[in-house]
Amino acid sequence: MLTGMDSLSERISAVRKRIVHAAMRAGRQPQDVMLIAVTKTVPVARIREAAECGLRAFGENRVQEAQKKIMSDEVSAVSEEIEWHLIGHLQRNKAKHAVGLFDCIHSLDSAGLAEEINRHAEKIGKVQDVLIEVKLSHEKTKHGVPSEELPELLRVVRDLANLNLRGLMTIPPFFEDPEAARPYFRELRELRDGYRGKGFALRELSMGMSDDFEAAIEEGATMVRVGTAIFGTRS
Ligand SMILES: *Cc1c(COP(=O)(O)O)cnc(C)c1O
Repeated sequence: MLTGMDSLSERISAVRKRIVHAAMRAGRQPQDVMLIAVTKTVPVARIREAAECGLRAFGENRVQEAQKKIMSDEVSAVSEEIEWHLIGHLQRNKAKHAVGLFDCIHSLDSAGLAEEINRHAEKIGKVQDVLIEVKLSHEKTKHGVPSEELPELLRVVRDLANLNLRGLMTIPPFFEDPEAARPYFRELRELRDGYRGKGFALRELSMGMSDDFEAAIEEGATMVRVGTAIFGTRS
């Protein structure tokens, strides 16, 4: 499957095929699933190569690392064609930079952070796309808003004029067996559908990584965040 001999373009087509098949199994349209290539630790030359293979959405989990890459000559040369997603935890004091750099922020998880992102977006005349990160497990280390506190955060975000709430994101606990993550994916979809029914404009579900994106798509993912299956194991 994934050997060192495979070229980047072969790996990308293999991932795309798996996306198509998972969507078809679920009776969904493959084009309703956005592939976000996760480039943390990946050098800029490789990112550019991936963009030249047709990848259009890229994800980073740290603002500073992303900033260096997005500003680099290699990435600037293709920046018109690509979009950047912040998928890692965001500290309030980095909100300003994040707003300047990212097309979509997946890790909104508190009212304070929402207000801070809104304030910086307003300053530069931008409406910032955001997803709310929901914490569905009880692991102490994970970020995200607990589902009990989601309704309150949804109301806060809805009232902030420079935020465009597009949906929900989650990172399930790590399991050896990708099937074990499936209940978390289903739970996120049910949460989205429930609040959609209550009038919140939630469309996107950002869920699924290299090991479990097929299960996530079967459960309704509209954005999958895939690093290792495209770029190989991170050092
Ligand atoms: C690193 C990362 C991914 C990608 O993980 P892979 O297993 O390499 O596909 C996805 N989402 C988040 C939030 C990450 O930090």
